[in-house]
Amino acid sequence: MSPIRINLYSDTQTLPTPAMRKAMAEAPVGDEQRGEDPTVNRLCEVVAELTGKEAAVFLPSGTMCNEIAICVHCRPGDEIITDRTAHILNLEGGAPAALSGASIWPLEGSHGVFTAEQVQQGIRPESRHTPRSRLVCVEQTANLGGGTVWPLETIQSVAEVARTHQLALHMDGARLFNAVIAAGIEAKKYTAPFDSVWFDLSKGLGCPVGGVLAGSAAFIEEAWWWKQRLGGAMRQAGILAAAGLYALEHHIERLAEDHRNARRFAEYIAEIPGISVALETVETNIVFFDVTATGLSAVEISDKLKSYGVLIGATDKARLRAVTHLDISQTDIETAAKALREIC
Ligand SMILES: *Cc1c(COP(=O)(O)O)cnc(C)c1O
Repeated sequence: MSPIRINLYSDTQTLPTPAMRKAMAEAPVGDEQRGEDPTVNRLCEVVAELTGKEAAVFLPSGTMCNEIAICVHCRPGDEIITDRTAHILNLEGGAPAALSGASIWPLEGSHGVFTAEQVQQGIRPESRHTPRSRLVCVEQTANLGGGTVWPLETIQSVAEVARTHQLALHMDGARLFNAVIAAGIEAKKYTAPFDSVWFDLSKGLGCPVGGVLAGSAAFIEEAWWWKQRLGGAMRQAGILAAAGLYALEHHIERLAEDHRNARRFAEYIAEIPGISVALETVETNIVFFDVTATGLSAVEISDKLKSYGVLIGATDKARLRAVTHLDISQTDIETAAKALREIC
């Protein structure tokens, strides 16, 4: 097996650049859980400003950002309305049920994006028999939806329905900045209707660890309680926050390059007999493609790609997912597409 040279498995696979490592090495640090780490404090201020919220808290992962937000918003027996493809429903180990005692009402959205009407229909009536609808969760961009960007108007109409029914609103903005760059819309505009929002530092932004959760001062106060309780309070975490500050300065605009590479990849592989890719759904850095017509399974194709030094994960029997990021060049994209053509 040749070593993996082109890693399209996920944008979580990025390695910190030498310049990022330098910023990390030079960061002033202190005791984060006592509020004494100046670099973490700075990161939280910058993120609160970027998202238009009063406060923010630095956490070890995006999953913890989602789950702490859900713990703050929901009580046992409450229900969360979200898309059936949502990360909180499919990829967080059942945490909403395990940690908050909340159930999830999944909506049948289009590529991870649902409508205000669907939310309306998903809200429970006032009744002792049903769970209590409590929270609406929007994923920007929708990961399993294919990196889909939620249009601002859709967010606003969904938020209006949620508000009318006194539901809280949470944005899983793991890839918020991919949406910002793809649509040319400021982060603040997207996050304005939400009570809580977070984005990941360790995906396309290229940091080794971390996510930042933002909301009102009261919300973040409660979030800190959960951070302590779950063991997410840290010590000299400024070395990690420094990577975040570096990324916010240097790695946002360049996401456009990842989007161009994803589009190139999709266009190359759309020409390969047996491969089916819906080009109009490739909006950011994620490309799902179907290999049913090749006669090979997704896992077989994924395995064969490895012998070319290319890693692309199979997401089910028929589909693979390729994700572009800062360690992937245009040449890598051409090499990966060529390998795929030879296999098919
Ligand atoms: C990756 C991801 C998460 C979880 O983030 P981690 O930092 O991996 O814990 C949550 N939601 C979405 C949409 C994601 O893509």
